[in-house]
Amino acid sequence: MINNQSVTQKLIDIVGQEFVIVDKQDMIVYESDGTHDRGMPDYVALPSSVDEVSKLVILANESNIPIIARGSGTGLSGGSVPVKGGLIISLNRMNKILDIDPEKGIAKVEAGVINLEISNKASEFGFFYAPDPSSQQVCTIGGNVAENSGGPHCLAYGVTTNHILAIEVVLLTGDIVWFGDFNKENNGIDFRGLFIGSEGTFGICTKVVVKLIKKPEMVKTFLIAFNSILDAANATTAIISSGIIPASIEMMDKTASQAAEESTNVGIPKNSDTVLLIEIEGFEDEVTEQELLIKDILNEFDPIEIKLAANEKQRELFWKARKGVFAALGRLAPNYYLVDGTVPRTKLAPVLSEVNRLSKKYGLIVANILHAGDGNLHPCIIFDQQIPGNTEKALSLGGEILKICVENGGVLSGEHGIGYEKKEYMPLLFSNHDLENMKNMKNIFDSKELFNPGKIFPSSRE
Ligand SMILES: Cc1cc2nc3c(=O)[nH]c(=O)nc-3n(C[C@H](O)[C@H](O)[C@H](O)COP(=O)(O)OP(=O)(O)OC[C@H]3O[C@@H](n4cnc5c(N)ncnc54)[C@H](O)[C@@H]3O)c2cc1C
Repeated sequence: MINNQSVTQKLIDIVGQEFVIVDKQDMIVYESDGTHDRGMPDYVALPSSVDEVSKLVILANESNIPIIARGSGTGLSGGSVPVKGGLIISLNRMNKILDIDPEKGIAKVEAGVINLEISNKASEFGFFYAPDPSSQQVCTIGGNVAENSGGPHCLAYGVTTNHILAIEVVLLTGDIVWFGDFNKENNGIDFRGLFIGSEGTFGICTKVVVKLIKKPEMVKTFLIAFNSILDAANATTAIISSGIIPASIEMMDKTASQAAEESTNVGIPKNSDTVLLIEIEGFEDEVTEQELLIKDILNEFDPIEIKLAANEKQRELFWKARKGVFAALGRLAPNYYLVDGTVPRTKLAPVLSEVNRLSKKYGLIVANILHAGDGNLHPCIIFDQQIPGNTEKALSLGGEILKICVENGGVLSGEHGIGYEKKEYMPLLFSNHDLENMKNMKNIFDSKELFNPGKIFPSSRE
């Protein structure tokens, strides 16, 4: 699609000249997200209010232009990539925290607010917002809603959908509606739940009411070094099977933890093969009791070292090592392809062995980073796209890993969504009937297939 002068003028009339981009060079930044997928938009508009979003959607609808909502573009499934061109509606200017209500334990925010800013603001009242994607310093709450994002602390607290009370949405007609309820659980059909995780294919989320959680009385954070990845995987299963649900259990294999060590000097022993980062929190008595139980379980797996964060500064360093590991892997090669699959926790050890076998078969290094407590694998395939054929190799290795996840009773995504990247794998998991039902649901919101076309559904269903 080639951008047309009259549409451009109408966009300018809605959001102002300064907030419309049509120059190809300026739009390059909107061509991709955190994946390798690419697609050039025809127009980018940056609205400042829900009314402007509504007018933009009406214009795009009347002109049959695809509409792609975009937060910070940190998505890892090609979700915000305009693979069929169209209008990107960037929510970054709608970044106000509108209200924090400590009495009700809720916050009302615009969709372009950065995830971490909610916790930073809520902390003034002794609260935090639980879902904490590792990208939380950058990603938006609107993107989190669209992807139903997870994060290290979602093991105990649950993912995004468990923390959203209500959302304001702009529909294809331009109508502005609220799904959910500020004060109580939903009654009737849960459109809020339906919209969360729909990856921008149902409408544009413009405001979000989130639940806030009181900060715990005590937090203890451990970094445990193991001799093997299997010991770490089995220790994870043993802890959860004992009935303890820590706030998080994160795992980094040898490649990942060594890269993290080099970038942070967090103190991972040189002879360590795999590390777990475990955090427990709650009332003091409860945490003290859990600490003893967890140490007993860990000792059954002969750990090299159990390190307890001595203070908040050291705890932050532990988390910096984990949350900064993707950037740290940039030391090994210029490109990586981050796979996101989930398996039942008990299958972690055999699936990781398979990933190792595939890494050797393809001759590409795979660093494994896991939300281990959730059975959510993030094999990170490291490669150099300048080497001919390397990108294709990485993508097909990623595909084989996803097939293994599904064969082991898992699913195609733990948190990054299907987007463009994984849509062709959907038939691995869903029958024709399932896909038909999903398509019917999409048609209720978007019969013209204008919202984020080319995503989620395999090409045969487009
Ligand atoms: C280093 C790194 C670490 C990460 N760690 C995690 C992690 O721990 N857990 C996790 O779940 N994810 C993680 N991610 C993935 C990503 O950060 C999340 O998917 C995040 O929710 C995307 O937010 P965003 O604002 O960047 O959205 P974008 O990438 O801009 O968009 C993502 C999708 O949401 C849609 N969308 C965006 N805003 C809206 C809106 N307002 N209304 C409707 N649809 C919208 C887009 O169309 C697109 O389909 C990580 C990414 C990186 C780069």
